[in-house]
Amino acid sequence: MWPQHWDGARLITFMVKNIRYKTKIAIIGAGQAGLSSAYHLKKLGLEIGRDFIILDEAPAPGGAWQFRWSSLTLSTVNKIHDLPGMSFEETLLPDETEVQANIAVPHYFDLYEKRFGLQVYRPTKVEKVYLQGHGFHIDTSDALFSALGIINATGTWGNPYIPLYPGAAAFRGEQLHTKDFKTADYFRHKHVIIVGGGISALQLLDQIAKVTSTTWVTRRPPLFRDGPFDDMAGHNAVAMVEERVRQGLSPQSVVSVTGLPYSAEIRDMEKRGVLQRRPMFSEITSTGVRWEDGSEENADVILWNTGFKSALQHLDAVIPKEPEGGILMTGRLATMVAKEPRIHLVGYGPSASTIGANRAGRAAAKELVETIGL
Ligand SMILES: Cc1cc2nc3c(=O)[nH]c(=O)nc-3n(C[C@H](O)[C@H](O)[C@H](O)COP(=O)(O)OP(=O)(O)OC[C@H]3O[C@@H](n4cnc5c(N)ncnc54)[C@H](O)[C@@H]3O)c2cc1C
Repeated sequence: MWPQHWDGARLITFMVKNIRYKTKIAIIGAGQAGLSSAYHLKKLGLEIGRDFIILDEAPAPGGAWQFRWSSLTLSTVNKIHDLPGMSFEETLLPDETEVQANIAVPHYFDLYEKRFGLQVYRPTKVEKVYLQGHGFHIDTSDALFSALGIINATGTWGNPYIPLYPGAAAFRGEQLHTKDFKTADYFRHKHVIIVGGGISALQLLDQIAKVTSTTWVTRRPPLFRDGPFDDMAGHNAVAMVEERVRQGLSPQSVVSVTGLPYSAEIRDMEKRGVLQRRPMFSEITSTGVRWEDGSEENADVILWNTGFKSALQHLDAVIPKEPEGGILMTGRLATMVAKEPRIHLVGYGPSASTIGANRAGRAAAKELVETIGL
C-alpha cells in the first residue's frame, strides 16, 4: 500500500517501480561485452524482450566510449575490434582521417543495436541484485525485473580507483581522475602532478605538458616495450589475468601486464624532457605533495591516472568473495562465477578489452543458456 497523501505522479512512479517484469536472462550493460552477449543469445534462438533484456544506465548507445575525452581518436587507441556480425570500418565515413573515439564508437554501437534489433532499456541503472526463489530480483532506477540468469557487462568506467594517501582531505587544490579529463586546456596556468604509469597517464601527460608545467610520478619505473605488441604477447597477457581470476584473485588490468609501447609520441616526450619521472610521494599536504626524503612540491591539481576497478557493487549480495577479495571464476573463458553459475561476468578480468569482450559474450551466452536449461 501507499500513503494516502501521495499525489498522482508519485503514485504512478511507485506503481511502475513495483511492477516486476519477468525475463529469463538479464544483460546488465550495453557496451562491447553486453552487445556481444546479446548478439549470441539471439543467435542461440532467444528472443529479446521475452527471453532476455538489456539494461544500461547510460543515456545513449556507446558504452563507456561515449564519455571518453575528445582527443582520444582511433589512431591513439590501441585497436577497437568489431562486434560480432558487423564491421566497424563500414560505419566510418570514408574521408575522415582523425576520428574521435567518443563519436565513432557510439555511432557504431547505435547502428549495431538497430541492425540486430537489440533494444536497450536506458537510462536504467541496476542498483541491487538479490536472490529470490529460483532466480534473481533486479532492482533498478525505474522498474523491478526478475531473471533466472544474469550476464553482467558493466565495465569499469563507473568505478574509478584513487589510492589513499595521508593528507588527501587537506589538499586545497583539485584532485581529478582520468575519468574527469576533457581537454588539456582546462589545466593551463596550473601546475599538475600526474600520477600513474599506464597508457592513459602517458597520453594525458603528453597533452597537458604541451600547455602547462607538470610533474610525473609513478609507483614503479615504467616498463617500455620496444617493438610491436604481437598476438603472442597479447595472448600471454590475457592468460596471466585469466590464471589470476581462476584462483579467485582480483584481476589486474590486461594493459598493466603488457608494458607500454615505445612509440613516436613517447620518444617525442623524452626529447621535450616531459618524461622526468619521480617516485610516488608519501603524503599529500594542503598545497601539494611531500616525498619520503622530505622534499615537497606545490600543485594546483593532482590528476590520478590510477585506473578503474570492475563496477560490480550491485552484485554484492549474490556473488561471494574469496578471502583475498577476488571472485572465483570458472567456465571455458572464465566468465562464470564458480559459486553462482547463473551469473557470468563479461568484460571482466581477461575479457576487459574489445576482443576479449566479444569472445566472452559468446562463451557466456552459450554456457548460461545451458546452465539454466533454456
Ligand atoms: C581510455 C581507454 C582506452 C581504451 N582503449 C582500448 C583499445 O584501444 N582497445 C581495446 O580493446 N580496449 C580498450 N579499452 C578497454 C575497452 O574500452 C573495454 O574493455 C571494452 O570496450 C569492453 O567494454 P565493456 O562492455 O566491458 O564496458 P563499457 O564500455 O564500460 O560498458 C559498460 C556499460 O555498462 C553500463 N553500466 C555500468 N554499470 C551499470 C549499472 N549498475 N546498471 C546499468 N548499466 C550499467 C554502462 O553505462 C556502460 O554502457 C580502453 C579503455 C579505456 C579506459
